[in-house]
Amino acid sequence: ALKAGIVGLPNVGKSTLFNAITQAGAESANYPFCTIDPNVGIVEVPDERLDKLTELVVPKKTVPTAFEFVDIAGLVRGASKGEGLGNKFLAHIREVDAIVHVVRCFVDENITHVDGKIDPVSDIQTINLELILADIESVEKKIDRSKKNMKGGNKTAAQEVEVLEKVKAVLYEDKPARSMELTDEERLIVRDLHLLTLKPVLYAANVAEDEIGDVANNAYVQKVREFAAAENAEVVPISAKVEEEISELEGDDKQMFLEELGIEDSGLNLLIKAAYKLLGLYTYFTAGVQEVRAWTIRKGTKAPGAAGVIHTDFERGFIRAEVVSYDDLVAAGSMNGAKERGQLRLEGKEYVVNDGDVMHFRFNV
Ligand code: GDP
Repeated sequence: ALKAGIVGLPNVGKSTLFNAITQAGAESANYPFCTIDPNVGIVEVPDERLDKLTELVVPKKTVPTAFEFVDIAGLVRGASKGEGLGNKFLAHIREVDAIVHVVRCFVDENITHVDGKIDPVSDIQTINLELILADIESVEKKIDRSKKNMKGGNKTAAQEVEVLEKVKAVLYEDKPARSMELTDEERLIVRDLHLLTLKPVLYAANVAEDEIGDVANNAYVQKVREFAAAENAEVVPISAKVEEEISELEGDDKQMFLEELGIEDSGLNLLIKAAYKLLGLYTYFTAGVQEVRAWTIRKGTKAPGAAGVIHTDFERGFIRAEVVSYDDLVAAGSMNGAKERGQLRLEGKEYVVNDGDVMHFRFNV
């Protein structure tokens, strides 16, 4: 499963947020492919389309798609030099597909800040610097290796050196690799390095309990927004403390609590949606009377690959897929209605699945 890693300086609210995630509790029996590990929380992706399909089909069960949040605690200044458990934590970041960077935007005299003052932008820069330094090390090692290969007459090595030198120059300006424009070819060259600063990032601005209803007036959040805009990253204001409380409530109690706070949706839901978008993923649906379910694929996945997300047998024995787009299905009101309108298509192995496709696979066992 895809993973988003939660990072941030100590005492910014990472564990509090992570607790909220695990307490909100996805039914892990539905997600056998997810990791069982105390540092990994499964989150279900809220999707209005899934609710609508449930209304249409009235299945026995509805299952949202999910991804994983990994709690990567322990990142401190000097991590790239091995401070704290530095290198170990950087290795964990290397394994995630996207980064959720928690920054402290709440004031509380009882809770120490590692640098003695609340300054979220400086916090971001502290962590970013560690990631940049770690990337510089990876890039320089790779440049050395490629240069050796060049002497052996390897042509691609020369191209590698050229691209890597460009990346190195950006990192030396204290900028993350994701701030560069890279061609597909260049991306392929740097891919194996799993650069930390190439991963997509979003900032979770952790505000005080009594400020979540009015984040527009939080000067710290404003600063984070300005910083993030400059690097095309998104900001999700959240109150980790409030989320922890919300995660203990259900149904009407939960709705009432949200109304009291003056918010429509829990910050956690907004964060999950934003992280899912950040991962660059598509959702397709299966809609049978037994189960209506959302599944996650990467953009560009063909029909057999999408079937393989359900079961490897579906991919191996793939024959065809019956496909109707979500919008067409909803407009038609039912699967039969869509069929009558000629909107139910039969697609083969080369079909590239769209976001929102409702699919039924035919396969050999
Ligand atoms: P971590 O080190 O980043 O994992 O931070 P924790 O989640 O352990 O939080 C550090 C302390 O800050 C804990 O005592 C939390 O209860 C507290 N905390 C977290 N979020 C908030 C918040 O929004 N408001 C206040 N007042 N305290 C918070």
